[in-house]
Amino acid sequence: MSPITTGLQITDPSADIRDEIAAASGVPEMPNKIWFQKTAAGVIDADRCVGCGSCIAACPSQSIGIGEDGRPTLIRMCTGCSACWDYCPMAGLRTERLALDVSQERAELAGEPNATEAGTGSLPLLGRVVDSFSAQAVDRAAGAQDGGVVTALLAELLRAGYIDGVIMNQRLDALHGRPVLATTPEEVAACAGSVYHQANLLASLNDRLPKGVERIALVGTPCQISGVSALQRFPWHYRETAAGAVVLKIALFCTRSFDPELLGPAIAAEGVELDQVSKVDVRAGEMIAQDDDGGELMRVPVREMRDAALKGCLECTDYTGLVADLSVGSVGSEPGWTTVLVRSDEGREALEKGSAALQVLPGPDMALVEKSAAADLRRAGKVLARGYDADGGLWVSYTSHLRDYADTDRSAASPPPFRSQHYEVNC
Ligand SMILES: Cc1cc2nc3c(=O)[nH]c(=O)nc-3n(C[C@H](O)[C@H](O)[C@H](O)COP(=O)(O)OP(=O)(O)OC[C@H]3O[C@@H](n4cnc5c(N)ncnc54)[C@H](O)[C@@H]3O)c2cc1C
Ligand code: SF4
Ligand code: SF4
Repeated sequence: MSPITTGLQITDPSADIRDEIAAASGVPEMPNKIWFQKTAAGVIDADRCVGCGSCIAACPSQSIGIGEDGRPTLIRMCTGCSACWDYCPMAGLRTERLALDVSQERAELAGEPNATEAGTGSLPLLGRVVDSFSAQAVDRAAGAQDGGVVTALLAELLRAGYIDGVIMNQRLDALHGRPVLATTPEEVAACAGSVYHQANLLASLNDRLPKGVERIALVGTPCQISGVSALQRFPWHYRETAAGAVVLKIALFCTRSFDPELLGPAIAAEGVELDQVSKVDVRAGEMIAQDDDGGELMRVPVREMRDAALKGCLECTDYTGLVADLSVGSVGSEPGWTTVLVRSDEGREALEKGSAALQVLPGPDMALVEKSAAADLRRAGKVLARGYDADGGLWVSYTSHLRDYADTDRSAASPPPFRSQHYEVNC
């Protein structure tokens, strides 16, 4: 099939049979109508997908599943509604503008004197932060990453009946996680610790919540938190999603995540037998692989593993989870403690309800958090072809994406047949 050239003289590698029909009939499609094929071309097959699962959750006909390569793939007919593009933080959703709007609305609601009208002004590096401290669980769960704050807080909120469940990522093995809905403190504790696999977490918003589960929390990386926030802010009555039940969003600070298909071989290349590895950790700039007994099998600077990171992560401008209710990370606190940023009334209320589970120290070193966030933004600035613009429009069009990424190593690429095979077949 020959690629179609748009009015801007840009080749669109997503062109398919519909474009041929439109060309032959002389009846063009609506401008900027996006079929899944285009999200695949601009993000997934351009190797920019960060596995957040937002497109899967956004699709009103639940037409997107997970393909043989672990990436979003069409499993039913696409209706061309554009949602997969619009809610993708690597495509249609300008996450920095979303963060600006959310921060300003929260400030206005709180009657803060310097709150400006939503949609104006610029976004501070760490977004809106109303409080910050270092914390540690009173009773730290086995396997917890830093202070065990996320696990302890959520278990306490479940016990208190403040929430009925948590969507979170559970480590399956050293390289893989899977989304779960935890509804008991024990199930939350079984998810303690970090796993460096995105696992399309938001896809689990498509599952119907069990009876009695009405208020849930969601723990995710900043891109996942942007996705669920967009689903909440821009609901669609055709879409069945659990996003509306999410009353607490906890973001993990994040520099990068990894592709298990690349990370496994990269660890093996360090002379480690992969079947001996039961946990992979990133701490203080080093990647550590451990066996079942906690014995160290590998310790290398994490930058040596950068080729196994998700390529899309290099474009990410959100280190701390700007639209979360609470953001947490290790940076800024002593080892064994977690840095906590409070961003909203919902975050503050959850901390109050769960306070019995945590001990708190003043601090943390916010200059260190800012330094990491600034470094992330600088890194992204080198490859984010659309440019960083918190005052820009919330939605980025496919046409402007094609133009911005043309002639880069992230330009749109034709999807393989299995990604959206429907379009290979004539009716
Ligand atoms: C991919 C990734 C990159 C990170 N990068 C940084 C960084 O650069 N700097 C920094 O300071 N901190 C980073 N963190 C956060 C840090 O590792 C801890 O998660 C955080 O400090 C909370 O520790 P804790 O002991 O309070 O959490 P715990 O009590 O151990 O709970 C951890 C929670 O995180 C959830 N979780 C684990 N992995 C994932 C995942 N991949 N996606 C979504 N949820 C997950 C678990 O389900 C659990 O609920 C990163 C985390 C991840 C997953
Ligand atoms: S980055 Fe997220 S929303 Fe975009 S294609 Fe990948 S999984 Fe879907
Ligand atoms: S670096 Fe950004 S895009 Fe990558 S996993 Fe973390 S939050 Fe998501």
